[in-house]
Amino acid sequence: MELDDRLETLSAAAQFDVCGGREMRPLPSPSSLRFIHRAALPGGGCVSLFKVLLTNSCVNDCGYCVNQVGRDVPRCGFQPDELARMFMDLQQRRLVTGLFLTSGIGQDPSRTMEAMIKVVEILRYRYKFPGYVHLKILPGARFDCVEAGCKLANRVSVNMEAPTVHHLARLSRKKNLHEGILERMRWVKQLMATNDKLVPSGQTTQFVVGAAGEADRDILRATGALYQEIGLRRVYYSAFHPISHSRLENVPPAPPLREHRLYQSDWLLRVYGFAPGEVELALGAEGNLSLRKDPKLVIAQKQPWLFPVDINRASYNDLLRVPGIGPESAKKIIDVRGEHSIDSLQQLRKMRVVTKRAASYIRFHGMLEYEKQSSFLPLLEEEEKPLTLQEILQIEGEGALVC
Ligand code: SF4
Repeated sequence: MELDDRLETLSAAAQFDVCGGREMRPLPSPSSLRFIHRAALPGGGCVSLFKVLLTNSCVNDCGYCVNQVGRDVPRCGFQPDELARMFMDLQQRRLVTGLFLTSGIGQDPSRTMEAMIKVVEILRYRYKFPGYVHLKILPGARFDCVEAGCKLANRVSVNMEAPTVHHLARLSRKKNLHEGILERMRWVKQLMATNDKLVPSGQTTQFVVGAAGEADRDILRATGALYQEIGLRRVYYSAFHPISHSRLENVPPAPPLREHRLYQSDWLLRVYGFAPGEVELALGAEGNLSLRKDPKLVIAQKQPWLFPVDINRASYNDLLRVPGIGPESAKKIIDVRGEHSIDSLQQLRKMRVVTKRAASYIRFHGMLEYEKQSSFLPLLEEEEKPLTLQEILQIEGEGALVC
């Protein structure tokens, strides 16, 4: 295959890996630039990542993956120096600022990993590229490969894909959760503990959502354990879409809203500091998050004794539990009330509080008048109105995921 065809094939096949950042639409450009992924950064601006596979040849049989063994697709790969040269050419043309490198797995995962490491070594040592590299750690790779990857990359990830051994077995007959995946995550944790300069952007993982019949409870429990025990920087969720000619082709796709609800719950665990048990209050009887209501709203409705909170006295943690108030607006409220009292929804709106959400859950100090004047909705009967994107951004604020 010609280089351009390989680039097209191997960048298209890499799209199923979430590379972090609030992913943005690909550049409006010729198809030859579709492999460039832009991601928004927390403080504004964006990073452009060259997201690509070293090879799409793979011995594994993951039922959600276009590269699984036995699928009739053209197989190809890059030589390490070829891929490194291509990246540097793009970087010098200012089309990309970082690399996200993943791969299908050969008979010996360590040999594939060695070739991936070679790409990054060429970038770092031959071309002196100091920028961002996210390197996928392949399940089953040897310790020395994991160590070499950690010394070279800004971020590494091992995809867990499913929350339990039982669920992973439905996705792949070959992957081994404990020895193949979790052990590599522990190695990365151990390496980072011995040298705090390694992997400065941390370790991440990804779940495929809805392919293995798992409930959101299973995913959230695994997520909580990964944050607590492995110290992962981020967990990503990717709604399952069946692909033709695979064992899972008749499994229905997962709704993108389910993926969004998992991200919202993850945000509560990771940024708001909610305990896993509190986040589980958002689950329904089947162990799934509501598609109709934001998990934070469900949690608030299940704890009516916590509300209304007094805007002028509540602690940061109590403010965080109010629907419509996020970390930034909670901090702002605390700052502002150090100078003067807060007496109106209008003032809160200026602090980026989504007041139509928060109104039923707050009171102003000594402001029973407000409760008399307003239509104080009974907490347990409130229906969620879908948030606009702007409102989601307001609540999540600096929620842009950092690559
Ligand atoms: S290991 Fe599984 S997910 Fe990764 S490329 Fe191979 S088939 Fe796809």
